[in-house]
Amino acid sequence: MKKLIAFLGSALISVTAFSQHAAVYPANWWIGMKMNKIQLMIHGQNLSGASITYPGIQVTKVQKAENSNYLFVDITILPTAKPGKAKVDIKGSPNTTSEFELKARRKGNGTSFAQGVTSSDFIYLLMPDRFSNGDPSNDRLEAMRDQSLNRDSIYHRHGGDFQGIINHLNYLQDLGVTTIWMTPVIENDMPDRTEHGYAFTNHYKIEPRFGGAEKYKQLSDSLHKRGMKLIQDAVYNHVGSYHFTVLDPPMKDWLHQWPNFTQTTYKDQVLYDPYAAASDKKKMEDGWFTRQMPDMNQDNPYVANYLIQHAIWCVEEFGVDGWRIDTYPYNDLEFMNRCNKALLDEYPKLTMFGETWVHGVPAQAYFTRNKMNIPFKSNLTGVTDFQTNMYGIVPALTENFGWTEGVNKLYSTLAADYVYENPLNNVIFLDNHDKSRIFSVVKEDVAKQRMAIGWLLTSRGIPQMYYGTEILMRGETNPDGWVRLDFPGGWNEDGKNAFTGDGLDDRELGIQDWTRKLANYRKNSAAIKTGKMMQYVPDDGLYVYFRYDDKQAVMCIMNTSEKTKHINFNNYPEMFKNVKQIKSVMGTERIEGDNLNIEPKKFVIIEFNK
Ligand code: CA
Repeated sequence: MKKLIAFLGSALISVTAFSQHAAVYPANWWIGMKMNKIQLMIHGQNLSGASITYPGIQVTKVQKAENSNYLFVDITILPTAKPGKAKVDIKGSPNTTSEFELKARRKGNGTSFAQGVTSSDFIYLLMPDRFSNGDPSNDRLEAMRDQSLNRDSIYHRHGGDFQGIINHLNYLQDLGVTTIWMTPVIENDMPDRTEHGYAFTNHYKIEPRFGGAEKYKQLSDSLHKRGMKLIQDAVYNHVGSYHFTVLDPPMKDWLHQWPNFTQTTYKDQVLYDPYAAASDKKKMEDGWFTRQMPDMNQDNPYVANYLIQHAIWCVEEFGVDGWRIDTYPYNDLEFMNRCNKALLDEYPKLTMFGETWVHGVPAQAYFTRNKMNIPFKSNLTGVTDFQTNMYGIVPALTENFGWTEGVNKLYSTLAADYVYENPLNNVIFLDNHDKSRIFSVVKEDVAKQRMAIGWLLTSRGIPQMYYGTEILMRGETNPDGWVRLDFPGGWNEDGKNAFTGDGLDDRELGIQDWTRKLANYRKNSAAIKTGKMMQYVPDDGLYVYFRYDDKQAVMCIMNTSEKTKHINFNNYPEMFKNVKQIKSVMGTERIEGDNLNIEPKKFVIIEFNK
């Protein structure tokens, strides 16, 4: 291997060296897909032409790239084609051959995969490197750049993997989880900081330190056998600086180029601001996320094909049910609409949610299907709801009550839901891998943690819990590593084991039990899963909302004040009528007639049956 040198951000000079082998991306496709015209990217050395001879595959165009190490071969796969391996003859120096495989389609589109993740689900977000190590043999791999392996460092790899997750699916299912979302599983062959997974180096390779493609399929199959679902975390905006197309770019404008390194401004406002300057918009969209994460030029049709095909390839190859899209506002939004549409054309029940770490409900609604009369219309089905987090549950639990403060903020943010086409598609959360853990945010107040989880599992939307929130894991950004600590019990040597409960204290066990009980109750409550919502104006820190359908109303009472509050059900006349049975869901409250007392910092759930 010769050395690969990349001057990132300006001209790219690369001294390339490859083995005799040429790689084909994607290396397989399927017969009978809506997307039956595929652009193969061939990467080798001094390529001048390629041909494929296989019944049912028509080569429509062979294009040389600016960089002679690449070819783009457009093919059409006819419905008459049969599964098998096509030989790809590649002219170059030297000539070489490769393979392209045609497969029969995965069965069960919309029923056993690509099912979509909805408000009936409960998502558990975890970082594979930090959850559980099921296979110590893959912890550190010689062929990879990052040779770290040190559980004492927040910056190093810890060894977690797919097998670790497979080993603990019983725990998660018992907790009430229906869906797993892992931070990205695509190869990150970067020199350091590889624990988060957001710097892809080869889209078509599943991270070998997690167990690779076969183990990923096994995890997907294990989830589906249990009736559980899989979300994949996708990144279109950028790649890692060691991605093969950065080290050896197919063409100059594969990446957004700047005379000098230019970082995005992270100011999403410029996308919808009627007063925005075009130059600000360019910096925001085309600036690089970080030096280590070069920005993909999605205007380039080759890049667009490469990214869209990869998305569909992942869903079909691994049986993905839901799609999470990283750094959504930083992408070319017209490109995103094309990409989303391609996925939905192929998989009508698939759902997607984009990361929208923006400020204000209209800002967030801009990036998903909305009722606003504006020139750009997003077709994205949902978003990660940062608004009900930052301007909702967090101030509700950390600010004193006021006209616009405390739980009034949560109330007001939800009142703005009228802009969304369907707010139930929004993924609500207390914390994630980029935000301080909720237990630290509420200053390690267990009562508040209980309220937070109570809200998460009953409010509108798709609840997402971050691993460890159910056992009071703590940690603050910045740096992010402190919110990405290991799940106790995930490593054989761990003394404390959250899977079995060994070594957990009463407070941790209490919250874990609260989560389990409520999440399992939620599974059987259509009112919470798919029902409507009604909220009442908060009064001195007391916030009451209902989730309801024709048969049931679930009353959720959040007392954010320091005083015991008295509730009389008759004060909620829209919901308290024709009620035949009243029940305390968590079994902790004494209901006397139409009355109930709510202690400070209590979250109470009452079921009214009609
Ligand atoms: Ca491992």
